[in-house]
Amino acid sequence: SPDFQGKHVTVAGLGVSGVPAARVLHARGATVTVVNDGDDARAREQAAELRALGITVRLGDGDTLPEGTELVVTAPGWKPGKPLFRAAAEAGIDVWGDVELAWRLRAPDAAPWLCVTGTNGKTTTVQMLACILRAAGLRTAAVGNIGVSLLDAVLGDEPYDVLAVELSSYQLHWAPSLRAHSAAVLNLAPDHLDWHGSMEAYAADKGRIYEGNRVACVYNVADKATEDLVREADVEEGCRAIGFTLGTPGPSQLGVVDGILVDRAFVENRYKNAQELAEVSDITPPAPHNIANALAAAGLARAFGVPPKAVRDGLRAFRPDAHRIAHVADVDGVAYVDDSKATNTHAAQASLAAYESIVWIAGGLAKGATFDELVAESAERLRGVVLIGADRALIREALARHAPEVPVVDLDRTDTGAMLQAVQEARRLAAPGDTVLLAPACASMDMFTNYTKRGDAFAEAVRELGS
Ligand code: ADP
Repeated sequence: SPDFQGKHVTVAGLGVSGVPAARVLHARGATVTVVNDGDDARAREQAAELRALGITVRLGDGDTLPEGTELVVTAPGWKPGKPLFRAAAEAGIDVWGDVELAWRLRAPDAAPWLCVTGTNGKTTTVQMLACILRAAGLRTAAVGNIGVSLLDAVLGDEPYDVLAVELSSYQLHWAPSLRAHSAAVLNLAPDHLDWHGSMEAYAADKGRIYEGNRVACVYNVADKATEDLVREADVEEGCRAIGFTLGTPGPSQLGVVDGILVDRAFVENRYKNAQELAEVSDITPPAPHNIANALAAAGLARAFGVPPKAVRDGLRAFRPDAHRIAHVADVDGVAYVDDSKATNTHAAQASLAAYESIVWIAGGLAKGATFDELVAESAERLRGVVLIGADRALIREALARHAPEVPVVDLDRTDTGAMLQAVQEARRLAAPGDTVLLAPACASMDMFTNYTKRGDAFAEAVRELGS
């Protein structure tokens, strides 16, 4: 691993990635300067902690590249267009993200990485993958963008056989030398375009995950853009393109036949041309997009040599995190489902596709999205819609264009109490057998601290209905 002794390293951004990065670099003998845009209470606290170690911290100035910098290590969220990076590029200075740093610092014989990215389904897929690997008796952890730091996993005392790594497009942008054992891109839909600048740049950053793969590049047969990324990637000799599909799999694919997950990519028995892995009913929830996530996880696990039985046991053991199509309660024959994590239109489309007759609660911060496609695709399954949040007019207008018959209740409020009223309105619109689905297709920050709080408010409101 690289020698940092006496090297002048600038860490861009405090926070969950910057603070540990600064500590590690300092401990390895680097002269570290941290630059940070803000100087709020939290930043001051973190700065004090680092200064006590002898690390220089500049608060309120994230744009100036410190004199003498030889390497920049950045928080993944920092935009590539920032003046700091322009200055680094002009001076020919490398910029690494938190993932790149962890990759460079891992031991030469360290656990290989099985990596997952995509617009939606990353966390779910990485957790499924970790369950499968564990069921195979492998020592593993779900790490990366999922909230567990890669740096901790790589430098900690815990021995791992393999890591299940979730990577965001930001992290991939700043990880030029990462080489996965195998990797999957689940899907590709417009998101975070304000950060990347264009759909092409976003796709290119996602595609980085395939660069240098050794065993398998797993792609989504239904999403041609993911297959294109595999084709464009420069991989190790012998690395295979493995597709996953909700339909019958072709050769080198995993798919579904009569409710059974089937592998035609990694078949050990030469008298068979397909290997049964698990049943659709082994997966919670058995919604189509979740089956796709399971197939991607299975593909990566199989590329790592995991036997079929462990795939089944691992998928059976998997339980989704909160706020991801979580069934909250049944009240008067109506199911209430919390998919607060559906923070963009692509995610909301997946959860709307999982139900027949829906009263949809939507709205929030649109982040520049358009809603025509989502509404047009889902119109026939909508019994009614309740709109909340700052950008609800955009959804209302799309509904007027593509679903003019569907009753819409437009709640003109953005206070947190609005959720209770939204659920009450949804109850009025729903009939027995319907699903009231919170799948906002928007970010939550106009009304809530985060999507967790939004989902909690929904569940709370549903409980009040039932009592
Ligand atoms: P991420 O980590 O990429 O944000 P999650 O696994 O947390 O993804 O799921 C986020 C939301 O995206 C879910 O609540 C669900 O609405 C939707 N989703 C999950 N998997 C998929 C998929 N394969 N395709 C489309 N939408 C999905």
